[in-house]
Amino acid sequence: MTLYKDKFSVTEPIRLGIIGGGQLGKMLAMEAKRMFMKVVILDPTINCPASCIADKVIEGSFSDEQKINELAQEVDLVTYEIELANATALNNLEQSGVQVHPSPKTLSIIQNKFRQKKFLRENKIDVPDFEFVLNEEQVNKVCSEYGFPVLLKACENSYDGRGNYLIRSQSEIKIALEYFSGRECMLEKFVNFKKEISIMIARNASGCISYFPVVENIHEEHILKTTIAPARISKVVEGKAIDLAVRTMESLKGSGIFGIEMFLGEDDEVLINEIAPRPHNSGHYSIEACSISQFEQHIRAILDYPMPQPRLESKAVMMNILGPPDLSGPYFLSGIREILALPGVRIHLYGKADTKPKRKLGHITILISDNDPLVTKDNVEKYLMVQAAI
Ligand code: AMP
Repeated sequence: MTLYKDKFSVTEPIRLGIIGGGQLGKMLAMEAKRMFMKVVILDPTINCPASCIADKVIEGSFSDEQKINELAQEVDLVTYEIELANATALNNLEQSGVQVHPSPKTLSIIQNKFRQKKFLRENKIDVPDFEFVLNEEQVNKVCSEYGFPVLLKACENSYDGRGNYLIRSQSEIKIALEYFSGRECMLEKFVNFKKEISIMIARNASGCISYFPVVENIHEEHILKTTIAPARISKVVEGKAIDLAVRTMESLKGSGIFGIEMFLGEDDEVLINEIAPRPHNSGHYSIEACSISQFEQHIRAILDYPMPQPRLESKAVMMNILGPPDLSGPYFLSGIREILALPGVRIHLYGKADTKPKRKLGHITILISDNDPLVTKDNVEKYLMVQAAI
């Protein structure tokens, strides 16, 4: 069943429900509003970033089934910008005839790191070696097989690296297990990667799959700092990444956009690190640099509209504006005048009231042109500062 195949009405706009009103929800809502849709958001924070765009914000937890049902009653279809959405509640909603995209079944596979990796391995999609671990004895056994370092990962509720603990030696095993005490964990072999790369890929209900260019990601302390589009990789590696992404989409059910993060190993092998069933930070560059943004592509996918292959119109660098390590609370950004004087630079501020260490406050996209003087990440970082509001 699909919605509004040939109708785009102003008197009866399409009503989109989004679980999560963070920056992804905001940018999704901006694209939806551009196409005159009505947007209702569910978020625990009434002043969430998407609140300045959405028609309505329902205040409530992502896991609150009653609030999810309340959202569903106001819209034609429900999507989500965060893996923490309650997959069981969404499944119940789908059973009752409400359109939910991507499929809650897919969400429940992806939101647990162990289930996700197991699913990929069963579908013959390359991933780093991993093992579910219950206790110290099992961790010891797997560590002796993988060698150090090794990553202990919490299976659920972990994102932006917050659910990872790097175990460097035998003596750190106990500390790592205590760090995640009471949570389900898996152990993953450390990949000595040359690069981290990713690809945004979407499928609509009619089964059409289209993907964005492969990009290169630079993380600092497990948080994405910079994306370079396109990735500086060979055609062979690009082909491997696209093949893995397409095979992943063919295995997973449902429509929507997915961010697929991968490691490029020392021998040019490509392994999937993680799948996000939603727009992704590493796809933000597409707003300015591609013929279709990742957010519009997601909307097209879930409404079953056509999705031609997005074109990269300009090389680009995206850099996140992260909260400094020593600052919490109200803040302002300085250096804006100098940054906006640089050609090809666009700034996005999410509108989060407070900063926290490593919090994603906004991002900057630099469009790289052969004709303009070269603007680099360093040019921008020289000026940009997040400072405490007095
Ligand atoms: P995750 O939240 O699991 O995607 O991990 C965040 C970041 O941690 C990744 O982008 C990598 O930089 C690093 N990381 C995760 N898993 C591994 C691994 N198996 N080997 C090496 N680095 C990893």
